[in-house]
Amino acid sequence: MLLSVRSIEVNYGQVRAVRGVSLEVGNAQVVTLIGSNGAGKSTTLRAISGLNRPSKGEIWFDGARIDQLPPVEIVKRGIAHVPEGRHVFANLTVLQNLYTGGYLSRNKAKLNAILEQIYQYFPILAQRRDQRANTLSGGEQQMLAIGRMMMSSPRLILLDEPSLGLSPKMMKEISRIILTIREGGTPVVLVEQNAEMALKLANHGYVMETGKISLDGPAEELRGNDHVRKAYLGI
Ligand code: ATP
Repeated sequence: MLLSVRSIEVNYGQVRAVRGVSLEVGNAQVVTLIGSNGAGKSTTLRAISGLNRPSKGEIWFDGARIDQLPPVEIVKRGIAHVPEGRHVFANLTVLQNLYTGGYLSRNKAKLNAILEQIYQYFPILAQRRDQRANTLSGGEQQMLAIGRMMMSSPRLILLDEPSLGLSPKMMKEISRIILTIREGGTPVVLVEQNAEMALKLANHGYVMETGKISLDGPAEELRGNDHVRKAYLGI
């Protein structure tokens, strides 16, 4: 497995946000973590990228233990995290924002090749390359946040609630990109409250409830599961 999260616990003071979570991500897989508000999904992602340190358990990436490493070291190993709420630099242009994602690479030719690919994925970013990020719509900013992350040629992508606040049309666009990333072979961990969208995109799903994984299985199977249908798909 490329990523293996083993029985981690994460606390915020007295709040036990993540209580013994294990999950695995293989190559070229989209793995989704679904669950209601406050279940601990974002905290799990933050533990993987080193922003929250687990008090128990281990995290392994590509054969090495990473849960004691600082976030910058984890980024260098190829884990890219797009947090909830699309944090783009409002006063920088689209192009400048994209370049900030490639800051670890000195290979300009390679960066330009990735940039061209991002423009192919998101033609709207090419059209708006010289516009400031704060003039983009919410969906376009989400595309920019994803594009910026792609500039680092990550080996594993952590996406936190990419559909939040987007119109159905924009959600379709984001889904299309996640599928394109999957076809390109880069694995994705997708945290979503929109379980329907997430289970359509993913190979495997984990259901998280009050800090624990309550259920996991092939995404297709979870879509047919009675509990998932009632609690998360509104059926
Ligand atoms: P959401 O979709 O609402 O972000 P989530 O499943 O991602 O939900 P987390 O954000 O991981 O859940 O939160 C898990 C628990 O930890 C919640 O009870 C939340 O209130 C608490 N929590 C999250 N961040 C902090 C923090 N910085 N300080 C204290 N408690 C926190």
